[in-house]
Amino acid sequence: MLQLRPNCECCDRDLPPDSTEAVICTFECTFCRDCATRVLKGECPNCGGEMLQRPRRPAAKLAKFPASTERVLHPGGCSS
Ligand SMILES: [Zn+2]
Ligand SMILES: [Zn+2]
Repeated sequence: MLQLRPNCECCDRDLPPDSTEAVICTFECTFCRDCATRVLKGECPNCGGEMLQRPRRPAAKLAKFPASTERVLHPGGCSS
């Protein structure tokens, strides 16, 4: 199951579970669309993998399967 991390690893922007702005890599490194496209050019800085839009979890499921609240932040942010 996806963790649904609450923030962008680069800019620490909030990415709620219903956001369409969240993208993830296969390891669930999580970024906002701005950072993923403008700064990272579609490639995960941690693993080099591709990043795709994170699927949204329906609200009814979030009660039983809540999103992660643990913020993950890239040390020093993501340089361009
Ligand atoms: Zn960001
Ligand atoms: Zn990654």
